[in-house]
Amino acid sequence: MSNEAIPEKFYQNGLRFECQGSGKCCTSHGEYGYVFLTLEDRRRFAKHMNMRVGEFTKKYCEQTGKVWHLKEDPKRLDCMFLENKRCSVYEGRPSQCRTWPFWPDVMNAKSWKTDVESFCPGVGKGKLWKADEIEKIMNEELASEKRMGT
Ligand code: SF4
Repeated sequence: MSNEAIPEKFYQNGLRFECQGSGKCCTSHGEYGYVFLTLEDRRRFAKHMNMRVGEFTKKYCEQTGKVWHLKEDPKRLDCMFLENKRCSVYEGRPSQCRTWPFWPDVMNAKSWKTDVESFCPGVGKGKLWKADEIEKIMNEELASEKRMGT
């Protein structure tokens, strides 16, 4: 049997996070550029905007490989729905935006520090999210990622 200690999760004692409305997570920054969309996301968006899913998809979405995401304007780094640093479609926003910043990809001490804490002013503020609440959100995001391409 190994005596190696199982490393504690860096968020074992919870993490404080409360959105400060900076809009920074709605602006492309390197590898986390696209706002990805599952079919469920496009349905929610379309309903919010009183549009048919096909109409919404044609107007606002494009595909890279098999995966849908919001259209990008090469001259604008911000998401097309960011207005005055606010999400103009908040109730209809996709899973990716709902689960930020507890994305499985960044939930390790290194990525949390470099990809989240260093630029998101909501980290360390407001509500203390318990480890099990964080993991619930991570699982929602994982489930959504598995539906990419639908
Ligand atoms: S949909 Fe809203 S929350 Fe998501 S990136 Fe765009 S502006 Fe931000």
